[in-house]
Amino acid sequence: MSSSTPRPDDEAVEAGAAGRDFIRDIIDEDNRTGKHGGRVATRFPPEPNGFLHIGHAKSICLNFGLAKEYGGTCNLRFDDTNPLKEDERYVRAIEEDVRWLGFEWDAEFHASDYYPALYDFAVKLIKQGAAYVCSLSDEAIRQYRGTVTEPGTPSPDRDRSVDENLDLLARMRQGEFDDGTYTVRAKIDMANPNMKMRDPPIYRIRHASHHRTGDAWCIYPMYDFTHCLSDSLEAITHSICTLEFENNRELYDWFLDTLEVQYHPQQIEFARLSLAYTVMSKRRLLRLVEDKYVHGWDDPRMPTIAGMRRRGYTPEAIRAFCEKIGVARRDNLVDLAFLEYCVRDDLNPKVPRAMAVLRPLKLIIDNYPEGEGETLTAINFPDDPPRMGERTIPFCRELYIEREDFMEKPSKGYFRLAPGKEVRLRWAYLVTCVSVTKDEHGEVTEVHCTYDPESRGGSPADGRKVKGTIHWVSAAHARPAEVRLYDRLFTVPSPDAEEDFTAVLNPESLQVLEAFVEPSLAEAAPGLRFQFERQGYFIADPDGTKDRPVFNRTVALRDGWAKLAKANVTQG
Ligand code: ATP
Ligand code: MG
Repeated sequence: MSSSTPRPDDEAVEAGAAGRDFIRDIIDEDNRTGKHGGRVATRFPPEPNGFLHIGHAKSICLNFGLAKEYGGTCNLRFDDTNPLKEDERYVRAIEEDVRWLGFEWDAEFHASDYYPALYDFAVKLIKQGAAYVCSLSDEAIRQYRGTVTEPGTPSPDRDRSVDENLDLLARMRQGEFDDGTYTVRAKIDMANPNMKMRDPPIYRIRHASHHRTGDAWCIYPMYDFTHCLSDSLEAITHSICTLEFENNRELYDWFLDTLEVQYHPQQIEFARLSLAYTVMSKRRLLRLVEDKYVHGWDDPRMPTIAGMRRRGYTPEAIRAFCEKIGVARRDNLVDLAFLEYCVRDDLNPKVPRAMAVLRPLKLIIDNYPEGEGETLTAINFPDDPPRMGERTIPFCRELYIEREDFMEKPSKGYFRLAPGKEVRLRWAYLVTCVSVTKDEHGEVTEVHCTYDPESRGGSPADGRKVKGTIHWVSAAHARPAEVRLYDRLFTVPSPDAEEDFTAVLNPESLQVLEAFVEPSLAEAAPGLRFQFERQGYFIADPDGTKDRPVFNRTVALRDGWAKLAKANVTQG
C-alpha cells in the first residue's frame, strides 16, 4: 500500500502533530545548528495550469503542516512563467482548494511579480560572464547537449562578449526578435556529468499575453532560474519539491551561489504521491476534461481536490490520508482503498443515516389495510441515538425494496427476502414473502408479503430470531432521485504506463440510477451528506432540483452486513 505504516493515532492527525520523517529531521538539525536562524519558511508553488489534485494535497499538507508545527510561515506562490498554459481561472480554483483543505497562506506571490528582479539577475549573470545569448534552436540545443556518457558541444555563441550579450538581451526584451530565435543560457559546463548543468536556458522569447502581466513582457524566465530565485526573494528556508527535481538541485544551488544572494534556501526532495487506477499529471487531467471523457475538472471521478469535494470527500479525510501515507524518498503507489478507508473513517461518526432504494422492486403487504398508513420513528445515528436525534418515516401497504434484497431461489447463506422467508424491514415490521408477480419475460415485478402487526419497530412479540434486515421506502411517499455511482476511472492500476492512457478508461466509471429516497431527503441542500443504510455515503449534488435531488455516492460501505447485524441488536 504505502511505504510507511498508517498510524492509528487519529488525535495526532487532527492536531496536525505529524509523525517523524526525514524532512522533520533535517529541520530539527537546522534549528539545532542555527542554519536559518531557527526560522522555518516554506511555500507551496503550483503552476496555475490546471486544478489541484490529491498529489498536490500531499505537498500542501506537508508545507503548510511544517509551517504550523514549527511556528513558521508558508507562502502560496503561483509559478506562472508559461503564459500559453496558465490562466486566472486556475489561480482562483487553486486558492479555493487550498482554503477548502483548511490552510491559509501567510503571503501570496506570483513568480510574475519577480519578472523585473529576474531580468536584473539575468543581466548580472551576463556581466559576470556567467550567461550568454544563444542563437541555437531548441532542437539544436538538445543535440549539442551530448548524452550521459558523452560531453556536450559548446554553442558557437558561448564566447560572445558581455556587451554583445547585454545588447541582444535588451533587444530580446524589446520584442525585436521572433519566438525561438534566441535564448539566454547560463554558462556552466558542457561536460558536466549532470546534464542539467550543461548551459541550461534561463530565458526564452514568447510573444504571448500573460494572465497577469499582459503584454509587458515577451521574454519569459525558465523554471530552474525562476524557482530558486523566487524562493530566495521570499527568504524561504526549506524548498520542498518532488524527487524528479533531484538533479535540478545542483543548478538551484549554482544560481544562488553565483548570484551571491542573501538567502540560500535548501531544496529537499520527497517521493510524489501516485494513486492506483488514476492519472495525476495536470496535462493528462486537462486532456480528460478537454476531450470530454469527464464532465469537468470537478467531475467526482477526477483525482482533483474539486472532484473529491463534489464527490463528498472531506478536508479532514484528505488531510488524514496525507498524514498517514507519510513522507519518504521512496516512490510508492498508494491503493485507492486506503484513501476510501480514510474517507469512511471520517464520515462514519459525522453523518446521519437515511434510507434510499437504488434499484427499486415493489413490495406489497397483502394483509395491510389498503388506503391506510402510519408514521414510524427512525434513529438518525443508531450507534449513539441521542447524538443526531430521530426522524419519522411514513409506512403503508406498498413499498419499494432493493431488487437485490429479493431472490426467488435463494443461495445458501442468503438471509434476505425469498419465498416463504421472513425479514425485518428496518425500523418497521417483520414481513414474510408469500408470492411474486412476474412479467412476460419471467422477471419478478412485485413481491407479495404478509406482515406481523405485533412486530412494530422490528422486534417480534414472541422473541423469534429473524436474521435479515433490509431497507425500504414507502411507494406512496418516496421521492424520485438521481443517484450517481462512481467507480475507478481506469481499468488498470498504472494507466500512466500505457501507451495511450485513454484506451484504459473504465467505461463503467459512472452509473446513473433512478432511485427512490425517503421524503426527508427530497429537500437536502447541496453539500449535505448521508449514509444511505447498507449502501454507502452520499452527498447531495448541486445539479439537483427541488423536485428531483441528485446524490453522488462518496464511497460504498465496505461491510454493510456486519454493521447492520450489530445495529439490530440495539434496535429491538
Ligand atoms: P503535474 O505534473 O501534476 O502538473 P507539477 O509538479 O507540474 O504536477 P505543480 O503545479 O508544479 O505541478 O506542483 C506544485 C507543487 O506540488 C510542487 O511542489 C510539486 O512538487 C507538488 N506536487 C505535484 N504533484 C505531486 C504529487 N503527485 N505528489 C506530491 N507532490 C506533488
Ligand atoms: Mg509543473
